[in-house]
Amino acid sequence: MSTINRRTQRVVTDSEDDFVEIRQRQRHDLQLSRRSQTPPIAEKDEDETKTKSKRKPISNTVSIPYIHTAPIHVISKPSVLSKEAPPVEGGYHGFIRLGMLVLGASNIRLIIENYMKYGLLIKLPHSYIPYQDYGLFVLAWVSVPISIVSAFLIEWLMAKIAMHIKSQKEDTRPKITSIEVLAGVFHCMHLLFLMIYPSYIVYTKIYHPMVGSAALVIALILFLKLTSYALVNRELREMYLTDNGDAPGGSHKYPNNIAIPNILYFWWAPTLCYQPSYPRSPRFRTTFFLKRVGELVVCLVTMYLLAEQYAKPTLENSLKALEEHNYVVIVERVLKLSTTAVVIWLLMFYALFHSFLNALSELGGIAIIWVPTGDCGIDRYTFSSRGMSICKCWGKGNCPSVQRGFPPLLGQFVVFFISALLHEVLVGIPTHALTGFAFWGMLGQIPLIAITKPLEKWRAMVKDSQLDQMAADMSLARQRPSFDVKLMSTFLVGDEESFKEREEGRAILENEPLFDKEPLVFMSREERLRHGIKVATRLIELWEEHAWSPDQFAAAVKNVDMMTPVTLHYGAFIPVILNQGTDEQVQEWIGAALSHTIIGCYAQTELGHGSNVGGLMTTATFDRHSDEFVLHSPSLAAAKWWIGGLGVMATHAVVQAQLIIDGKNYGPHIFVAPIRSLENHKPLPNILVGDIGPKAYGGFSSMDNGYLLFKEHRIPRGNMLMKFAKVDKNGVYRPPVHSKLSYGSMVKLRAGMVSEAGWKLGQAATVAIRYCTVRRQFQPANLNKADAPSDAPESQVISYSGLQHRLFPLISVAYGLIITGFSVNRLFDEMTEQLASENATLLPQVHVLTCGLKSWGTRRSCDGIEECRKAMGGHGYSAFSGLSDLFASYIPSNTYEGDNWILTQQVARFLVKELGRLANGKEISASTSYLARLASGDTSSSFRVTKAEQLTDLNVQVDLFATRAARVAFELGQALQSGRAWSDLNVECWNASVAHTEYTVMRAFADKVEEVKKDQFAPIHDTLKMLCDLFAVSNIVGASQASFLATQTVHAADLPVINELYRSLLHRISKQAIPLTDAFGFSDKNLGSALGRHDGRAYEALWEAVQKNPINQEKWQQETYETIIKKLLHRNNSAEPVEKAKL
Ligand SMILES: Cc1cc2nc3c(=O)[nH]c(=O)nc-3n(C[C@H](O)[C@H](O)[C@H](O)COP(=O)(O)OP(=O)(O)OC[C@H]3O[C@@H](n4cnc5c(N)ncnc54)[C@H](O)[C@@H]3O)c2cc1C
Repeated sequence: MSTINRRTQRVVTDSEDDFVEIRQRQRHDLQLSRRSQTPPIAEKDEDETKTKSKRKPISNTVSIPYIHTAPIHVISKPSVLSKEAPPVEGGYHGFIRLGMLVLGASNIRLIIENYMKYGLLIKLPHSYIPYQDYGLFVLAWVSVPISIVSAFLIEWLMAKIAMHIKSQKEDTRPKITSIEVLAGVFHCMHLLFLMIYPSYIVYTKIYHPMVGSAALVIALILFLKLTSYALVNRELREMYLTDNGDAPGGSHKYPNNIAIPNILYFWWAPTLCYQPSYPRSPRFRTTFFLKRVGELVVCLVTMYLLAEQYAKPTLENSLKALEEHNYVVIVERVLKLSTTAVVIWLLMFYALFHSFLNALSELGGIAIIWVPTGDCGIDRYTFSSRGMSICKCWGKGNCPSVQRGFPPLLGQFVVFFISALLHEVLVGIPTHALTGFAFWGMLGQIPLIAITKPLEKWRAMVKDSQLDQMAADMSLARQRPSFDVKLMSTFLVGDEESFKEREEGRAILENEPLFDKEPLVFMSREERLRHGIKVATRLIELWEEHAWSPDQFAAAVKNVDMMTPVTLHYGAFIPVILNQGTDEQVQEWIGAALSHTIIGCYAQTELGHGSNVGGLMTTATFDRHSDEFVLHSPSLAAAKWWIGGLGVMATHAVVQAQLIIDGKNYGPHIFVAPIRSLENHKPLPNILVGDIGPKAYGGFSSMDNGYLLFKEHRIPRGNMLMKFAKVDKNGVYRPPVHSKLSYGSMVKLRAGMVSEAGWKLGQAATVAIRYCTVRRQFQPANLNKADAPSDAPESQVISYSGLQHRLFPLISVAYGLIITGFSVNRLFDEMTEQLASENATLLPQVHVLTCGLKSWGTRRSCDGIEECRKAMGGHGYSAFSGLSDLFASYIPSNTYEGDNWILTQQVARFLVKELGRLANGKEISASTSYLARLASGDTSSSFRVTKAEQLTDLNVQVDLFATRAARVAFELGQALQSGRAWSDLNVECWNASVAHTEYTVMRAFADKVEEVKKDQFAPIHDTLKMLCDLFAVSNIVGASQASFLATQTVHAADLPVINELYRSLLHRISKQAIPLTDAFGFSDKNLGSALGRHDGRAYEALWEAVQKNPINQEKWQQETYETIIKKLLHRNNSAEPVEKAKL
């Protein structure tokens, strides 16, 4: 208990523990990166624990402090491209994927085309390289040992001199400055030799550019290394002579570092930055090393193959165009070459910076990790300026010349100039073409930087470490799911087949920009409605294109998640005809309906009546002479109202109207009525039809709910759906065998709404939990001091107990509804089979079941959606949260298909009947068998909870819900017996229905948890059990606590123990909340939410979405200013206040 309490008080989740660890690592990294901007601080050495620099900050003065000495490589870190990399540093996987994608996908066609055109062009490499090139390479390479030896000798001599000086008394020590200058000159000489000599050999003698490049690259790398060697040792020497105890190096402290093994080690070490010692890996990782070598080989071979087979022929083919200055062909060639070049570049980048250098580090036991980031090129500042663009990096304090006191712009120019020169050397000399292309290409970056600077500024505004932190939080939250998320997804959709179908359907749909939700928020009602029609049309086209089955199409409609004018065609018109029509009638209309020759709607509700179906006023009077029915709306109150799809789209309607034969009213029956012409879509004569206008919260705006008035509109007798009730041509009426048989279609609609409620809630929970995972507010220690500044990371809001209490139970409700949906569907199928043989035994039970579940499910779901929105704070109210539209469009589910309050009366009436049967010793239905416990007369003893574990027993959970439901039903029965009128018992009916339905869900949930133990979903059993526990406990101590206490099902004294279990369950869920919502399987497009992005980058998505706002466009603002704002601001037409305001 103490653990739970402590955790809840501190609101620290395990994921936060992980986060703290990563945060510490990050802070460490941050310190490293700061080092490049402020004086480098030696931090940790191989041998030493800590050394601190006492050096002053680098200012823009000419005095040069120890800018080269402080070690850059101080900790052992895994490469960001390796598996071991912490997720917070991730992001480079995109680089690999890009490589793979470009390599794999886009080149397959080119490979075939190329092969067909040229055959196999690849030859062994040596076949092009003249033998004398190998000898010349060795000759050029001679400069390498010469330079190393020279550098070493100069430093050795200088070390000796320094030691000698140090041995003198402090006040008599001579100045070393002039000797330093001399040493510098010698260093310059051998460094110049190192570059000039091989350049000469390569340019004048070596034929093959590859050989020449290799010789020059080796020389250039050494050139940079030895420059660093000289500069660092000069500073070390100064520190040594001034007795600066902070000098780095441990046992290799200056002058001990001036040794042959030390310089040779540096020569081979994969770094350009000299330091006396480097952090070392604890052990040699053979597999890691072999993997890197393997990658290197694969990359090199592939690069060679690409160059030979693709780049070479393209180049050869462009020679003629070059000669003829045929610029169109040249551009075409360049574009063609660019794909191959990008692939080769990617491979080179990966091979060199990841594979080769990391293999080399491993071999040398050096814990420097090479990070291919494409950043600052090759200098000692490279490693600490990750994430900074090249221009920024070289223009800031990181640039050596800037640190030497150059103004940033000049510093930038100097660095680019040197870099451009070296690029020209590396490209121009081996190819024997010093054209200046490489030089100017590099130098051309400077004006480019100026041009793109405004963009950089914008990027900097919206991109910062906090944004990366959000992505890191998200990836951390899904790092260690305790269950198989895909298996859970499969479970939720039913089976693998359905899962596959959903994914395949989604792949098609997500390629269609028309289905994107984002643009909808800026559309007017008119635009949305038109958009809805387009969406419906495209869906139908896709159905035909892909020959989807009806189930696949239904899944696609669900996936697109938008009400359209055709929704009710599938949702009501077709099902009603199938359900209520005779075989001939089905044949007559269903073919046309499925081919969309006709589009239908379901017209029951009227302006004057909805819930009270018996009170409907539209009449269908039989005319024996013409064998027709005459549909008529006797008053405005009889106008059909709210009918989905009727406003602009439907050609037909199934109409509920009072059947009148020979003046006798037989009550409401269903008729198929044509509404609009099939030729020109105009309303038929005697029909008044239109759209009822915008709806609450802007919901249902892509749906054309409509009105309809009949003025003696004639339809053939055969248009009455006559599967159950019949009227023959003589006007003889035959009633249905069972009075409730016509309920079938309503039952089907409500049955579908059970799982739908779960999915909608799951959608909102996914968005809210994702956003609350990446949203951070308050440092834990500063909760009561909002303005206290601190470096500590702020807490993820999801870690707060209040949010966990508001959101996590919703996950269990969503799962519960989806699971209950399975059993409802099963029961519905069983009932349909029965009804086919006019057996209606199951009908009342299923009818009541769906009434209760529809009522309870849509209410809990809508309340939950709104709670999710509120849980997201201010941003939840943005339309880009995706929840406002979800809520607005789903909230009427509380009303349509039967008002929720009225439906509870149907459930209550059934319960009362069952109580009566029980009292009379008759059999009651399985769904209400729990009422039998009332027979013992025990209506008040409580189940005592002494240990929290008692409540994790599924039987106990079901039993508690059953007891409570039975007692609530009993109270209703008693109230009725006491003589209270039915209309006075709305609240009791509601309570009885809620208690019965919660028992139903609890039972379905618990049964499923038991059931999965034995099937392919056994691996997710524990997770489902955890959710089932949460469903039970959160209802007992949360949503329905009053009911459990009032019925004395649980005892108030036991609440602390139950609450403790509740908190521990919330804590367990907190570690799995993201995977549990991921399992719903909503894609970003499905969610249409900037805040609920899968990758956690909520702020960036919100920013991007806002940029599309037409109100932010210059044109809109100018127009509004000119036409309205200006009038307001300048209404006094006086310059004086304007002038004053300026001050
Ligand atoms: C978005 C949307 C789409 C719709 N689409 C269609 C459609 O396609 N086709 C169609 O035919 N209809 C449609 N409807 C209509 C819908 O089915 C009805 O609005 C619904 O059945 C409720 O009926 P009502 O409007 O008459 O409410 P009312 O019956 O007027 O209810 C008003 C209030 O009185 C209460 N109340 C009423 N009677 C009782 C009672 N006996 N005891 C206690 N309380 C009572 C209700 O709980 C409610 O709070 C749609 C409605 C909406 C909002």
